[in-house]
Amino acid sequence: MAKFLLLLALGIVVYLIVSRVRRDGERSQAQREVQAGSSTPEDMVRCAVCGVHLPRSEGFASRGKFYCSDEHLRLSGHEVRKDK
Ligand SMILES: [Zn+2]
Repeated sequence: MAKFLLLLALGIVVYLIVSRVRRDGERSQAQREVQAGSSTPEDMVRCAVCGVHLPRSEGFASRGKFYCSDEHLRLSGHEVRKDK
């Protein structure tokens, strides 16, 4: 009888360890997915006119500067021409 209880206790301990390891594995996999998502973000650029931040693909680039809209791109062009 004592042997049976010992085996039962051993089984419970093994079950707890296995379920904990499995849970940690799922958690670290979820963390890895989150990190993978955040490690490949799109570059953010700042509009040279209004200072708003936006993804590089949504911005307008001109002379090494980025703009949030076509309007700000043109606005900046006028300012540059005025300076010269
Ligand atoms: Zn802007």
